[in-house]
Amino acid sequence: MRIDILTLFPAMFQGPLSESIIKRAVEKGVVEIVLHDIRDYSTDKHRRVDDYPFGGGAGMVMQIDPIARLIDKLKGERPYNEIIYMSPDGLRFNQKEANRLSLYQNIILLCGHYKGVDQRIRDHYVTREISIGDYVLSGGELAASVVTDAVVRVLPGVIGDETSALTDSFQDNLLAPPVYTRPANYKGWEVPQVLLSGNQSDIDQWREEQALERTRRLRPDLLEE
Ligand code: SAH
Repeated sequence: MRIDILTLFPAMFQGPLSESIIKRAVEKGVVEIVLHDIRDYSTDKHRRVDDYPFGGGAGMVMQIDPIARLIDKLKGERPYNEIIYMSPDGLRFNQKEANRLSLYQNIILLCGHYKGVDQRIRDHYVTREISIGDYVLSGGELAASVVTDAVVRVLPGVIGDETSALTDSFQDNLLAPPVYTRPANYKGWEVPQVLLSGNQSDIDQWREEQALERTRRLRPDLLEE
């Protein structure tokens, strides 16, 4: 899979995409993540990429031309399954959407800043708009990092134990059961006996019950889906 990220602030991805599971996925060649600085596509002599909104009002708007030129260039190089704009008024991101995106070959994530991008980019280039929640961030960079992380960790071969990503919360519309590791007794706080029993079918049954109980208590809405 290839993920192209279009941003005014490529440095913001340094941390999230250069550590841990994502870093290893890139090193293994499971995913290619390419950062593009939108400013490199400005034809303005001051490398300007934003301007005042028509009709007045506060804040700046990201101009069409640099973004359009960058997307046109990329589309000339390979076909894209989706061109996604990160936006608070987009579809709410969830595990199902992460799974869906992980099946694609090439996607673009466009990060807005300031008041966002000129609407005509959304009308004529963008195929999908994704929000990571009902709050407004300063830019799409953190949101694109969240989406990239969630998509990459479900790609086959990324998480060592193949079944691990599938037992996480939200797969199967269930929250994950509690997990424990050594020591079995810490200051008198004991691990549930069944986990030490060695009886795998008892353990599986206990985990299933715990997952159901947690989901009923914390997220009953998931069971209605
Ligand atoms: N004026 C816009 C918000 C602009 S915030 C509005 O009220 O809808 C600047 C940029 O941050 C947006 O263009 C978008 O790319 C990103 N962004 C902000 N909040 C986000 C969210 N909840 N999910 C995804 N992207 C978000």
